[in-house]
Amino acid sequence: MAKDYYKILGVDRNASQEEIKRAFRKLTRKYHPDVAGKDSEEKFKEINEAFQVLSDPQKKAQYDQSGFTDFGSEDFAGPEGFNFDDIFSDIFNIFSDRRRAERGRAGADLRYDLDISLEQAFSGLTTKIEIPVPTVCKKCKGTGAKEGKLKTCPYCNGLGQIRKTQRTPFGQSVFITICNKCGGSGNIIEEKCEDCNGTGRVKEEKKIEVKIPKGVDENSYLRIPGQGEPGYNGGSPGDLYIIIHIKPHDIFEREGNDLLCKTTVDLFKAIFGGEIEVRTIDGKTNIKLPKGTQSHTTFRLRGQGIPDLYTGERGDELIKVTVEIPKRLSRKQETLLREAFGKKEDRNNKEGKLSLNRLKDLLLL
Ligand SMILES: [Zn+2]
Ligand SMILES: [Zn+2]
Repeated sequence: MAKDYYKILGVDRNASQEEIKRAFRKLTRKYHPDVAGKDSEEKFKEINEAFQVLSDPQKKAQYDQSGFTDFGSEDFAGPEGFNFDDIFSDIFNIFSDRRRAERGRAGADLRYDLDISLEQAFSGLTTKIEIPVPTVCKKCKGTGAKEGKLKTCPYCNGLGQIRKTQRTPFGQSVFITICNKCGGSGNIIEEKCEDCNGTGRVKEEKKIEVKIPKGVDENSYLRIPGQGEPGYNGGSPGDLYIIIHIKPHDIFEREGNDLLCKTTVDLFKAIFGGEIEVRTIDGKTNIKLPKGTQSHTTFRLRGQGIPDLYTGERGDELIKVTVEIPKRLSRKQETLLREAFGKKEDRNNKEGKLSLNRLKDLLLL
């Protein structure tokens, strides 16, 4: 005759898995042979057997329907598979916290590459980014099992770890290893969830608002704790790293917190001096050229660079000036220039034509 497993565990037929587990633990503490003596061995085995069936959704369903089970006896934990220590870890529950910590696996850190403009690096920005974050699969509730049906790992009896007691010349030693059949979760998947292919995770676009501080540079990164991949089995989530990339700018080049740019001035301004308008990262300003400014002279605008990420102190803007030499001159301009700068023989020649012709002649010869 089939045994009434519900009666053995002292639970209702509608009892939840949690209630079944609780009842089992209570009874094993009471009837453990180490506690209750050898006479309770039979009873203890029976409790264990009942739990093996009722804690397994598939076996339980079969048992509920037919009132019996035809599971092979190897499914039932022998002295090897059953972890007696676990029962006592509930009594001395200093172990249970540690076990919980061992069980959960932390989620992976995620990386997101964000391209920003130099202007945005200058002023800082708040932006929303969409990142494909592996999130818990809704269909299987993250179990990875079809319809969320998990089987208690038969190797560790759902404890996630294997303890082996060994006698050594120095006494008894307990070896604890994470169960490698279930990876420490205590459950195994019989049939994979189709949505997540058994991983328990699906990628979902997650919108996150990020604040990028002013002064960030190429490869600066931002760490957002807890926004990475969710942890496994109660493990902590990973972090999200946002790596900054700065797009090339049409006029500025960045060197540390300084900004470099180039501009041209006409010959007149280079010679006589004057104001020229230059671009800054946030607008325009005028700089004064001294008389006789040479080509490739660099002017420094203090405090017009990028603010330092940590101190906020701004770098400088460096403007390299190139003097533009006119490619064509009117006859009048040429005459005047020859008069002003030319050699003696050119100055003597009123129209300046002769020397040009002479040069042509020379080149043709
Ligand atoms: Zn799934
Ligand atoms: Zn296991």
